[in-house]
Amino acid sequence: MPILTYHHIGMCPPEERDHSGLWVAPENFEQQLAWLRAKGFVGLRVSELARVLREGRSVPTRWVVITFDDGWRDNYTTAWPLLQRYSFPATIFVTTAKLREGLPSDSGNDMMSLAEMLELVANGIEIGSHTRSHPKLTRLSDESAHDEIAGSREDLAKMLGEPPVSFAYPYGAFSRRIEKIVREAGYLAAVSTIRDNRVRSDQIYHLPRVMVMGSTTLSRFAYMFSIAYHAVHSWKNLRRWRGGR
Ligand SMILES: [Zn+2]
Repeated sequence: MPILTYHHIGMCPPEERDHSGLWVAPENFEQQLAWLRAKGFVGLRVSELARVLREGRSVPTRWVVITFDDGWRDNYTTAWPLLQRYSFPATIFVTTAKLREGLPSDSGNDMMSLAEMLELVANGIEIGSHTRSHPKLTRLSDESAHDEIAGSREDLAKMLGEPPVSFAYPYGAFSRRIEKIVREAGYLAAVSTIRDNRVRSDQIYHLPRVMVMGSTTLSRFAYMFSIAYHAVHSWKNLRRWRGGR
């Protein structure tokens, strides 16, 4: 069963060019949540899935993990009310140097604020780290990568009162070297952009995900949960990742 990746929930603003595909319309998101509810899927947070995988505990047959990358404000204003309506938890990965802290809401920064993040946490949403400044980690020195990975964990520990458990690689860029830094910083799990809808415990620091786009129809969404999707992608991944790492 999949870990889903979302970015924005909302109508794509006309000035958005590069990332217009990452905007999922609220009515599509709601349809997807209704489908998950109707099919009896149990929502987990990344931290819960990590514990299940680490401890070899059993998991409901039909589970789904809903994740959001980057910490956009629409996750709070638009996604969260829908998640509440359908009783699904989620994990939101934030870049700690980009939070809208202390800025007026018209400053052009459309990230969540600390107050909004705290409200989400109080209501069962998990906050994970997506680094401090969203760099491509594989291009950084050990020292700089450590600052982004461990530093953002310290930032969140100060903001939220306890350190985050989960991490997401910006641009999905990871390597054995970067994974080691993530593990040593104290995270229990990390999600990647490897495409698959089944997860294994040996993937705990590069868990595969399935990306939901603005163009994802409900039938495509349903396909993303299927064994056929898994068969296609595990074959592709074998070719792509064999030898490389
Ligand atoms: Zn990102």
